[in-house]
Amino acid sequence: MKYKITAFVFLLLMTASARAQQSAKNNLPRIAIAGIAIESSTFSPAHTDEAAFHAQYGQDLLKVYPFLSNDSPMLQRAVWIPTLGGHALPGGAVTRKAYESLVNKTLDSLKKHLPYDGLFFDIHGAMSVTGLDDPEGDFIVRIRKVVGTKTIISTSMDLHGNVSWRLAANTDLITCYRMAPHEDAMQTKERAVENLLQRIESGKGKPKYKAYVSIPILLPGEKTSTRIEPGKSIYAAVAPASVQPGVVDAAIWIGYAWADEPRNHAVVMVTGDDEATVKKEATQLAKRFWDLRNDFVFVAPTGTLEEALTKALASKVHPYFISDSGDNPTAGGAGDVTWTITEILKNLAFSKADGPSLIYASIPGPELVKKAIAAGIGNAVDGYAGAAVDARFAPPVHLAGTVTSIEYGDKDAEVEVVVKVGSVYVIVTQKRKPYHKEIDFTRLGLQPRKADIVVVKIGYLEPELFAMRADWLLALTPGGVDQNLERLPFKRIQRPMFPFDKNMKTPDLSAKLVPVSGK
Ligand SMILES: [Zn+2]
Repeated sequence: MKYKITAFVFLLLMTASARAQQSAKNNLPRIAIAGIAIESSTFSPAHTDEAAFHAQYGQDLLKVYPFLSNDSPMLQRAVWIPTLGGHALPGGAVTRKAYESLVNKTLDSLKKHLPYDGLFFDIHGAMSVTGLDDPEGDFIVRIRKVVGTKTIISTSMDLHGNVSWRLAANTDLITCYRMAPHEDAMQTKERAVENLLQRIESGKGKPKYKAYVSIPILLPGEKTSTRIEPGKSIYAAVAPASVQPGVVDAAIWIGYAWADEPRNHAVVMVTGDDEATVKKEATQLAKRFWDLRNDFVFVAPTGTLEEALTKALASKVHPYFISDSGDNPTAGGAGDVTWTITEILKNLAFSKADGPSLIYASIPGPELVKKAIAAGIGNAVDGYAGAAVDARFAPPVHLAGTVTSIEYGDKDAEVEVVVKVGSVYVIVTQKRKPYHKEIDFTRLGLQPRKADIVVVKIGYLEPELFAMRADWLLALTPGGVDQNLERLPFKRIQRPMFPFDKNMKTPDLSAKLVPVSGK
């Protein structure tokens, strides 16, 4: 009997606690998550399709955010409604079909779970879509049509994204990374969500003011690392500006240099409830940026490929890194330009097997991958790779050498093989893949630390490669993301624009107030 009573009381308590939990849940804000991210070059002949986004749906999307993991306190503060999220490697313009499909799937999912107190809009901001200007601005307008104007939208972006007036007008909170390379990417997304939660929980709602300054500057990412001046001090001023009384967040966008639209330029935004402070902080951040514009230089010494190879061969320290920067796939290059590897293989210094070792990362070549698999490790292979997408600078490269490695299962490359030609180890992939980490090389049996020269399709070196380099030169090679912007055929960006137009007058850097969404 005693046990029965205890069990009965226990059951009652359980029900009460479940009810309490349910009612607490009913009081929690409802927050949707949506957004797709890509950086896409309109100067590349490549196109990006839907599969490239590796879209995640519903609860699977939550796993992308460590700050919303099962045991995280943040998870308990809202009812989360993740819809669709996707992240593609940079590339060519997204096809209209892929864009419409991803947007419509997002909108359909949003319609099913209305209403929302908040929406976390997680985007990059440099997506180009064939035949459509300002896709992120278009996307947020279509989201607004579904969720209405009461929902508070918090947008998180890459500092290489573009902020059109339309995007600024339809979002309520907005921020971007403060570090390049983007070591603070997840921290930025978490801040965007934290700000959203705080505005909802405190009942303060949308910030009253959004100050916006358009800065007529367009620079490549490889000149604007926050590790060195002047990017370092320009970005160091963002956090202090964001903690001023009356300010919610502050951000500076460098913008994306390889798309040709009126929105491609630098922007500063500061949001908050104190009109005078948000305007003052935005103007100051913009002014510092403008005043230091002439100090931006490439983050590494630059030169032609020929100069880079000559210096690397003469260098006393190794590994000597060379960035094949014009075809950097993580900036939007096709990633299959063969110009650089063709030039390297022409260089007699590398023609013998015991010559100076050079690792080349990488070139897509599905046909050659097949041949290498058929030949097997240790055997000879002969075939062509690259230039399937971007053949403007060189035709497919002829590789005749020995297969030294075959690896399966990489998320991006799918299959990777290494072909040794002379003293050059060429990484050939089934699909394009960026090589940013030491393990990307060691898993293929390559030892970049012991190599004489490592050539990577990349701009500035990612942290692990940067730490490994004995010396480094950024080669100004041709491709869809040519670092020499003045060689690119811009037609639609706003003019005058630094550094294209010489002797520019000081532009109007006063902060404009963007209307609060729905007003
Ligand atoms: Zn970026």
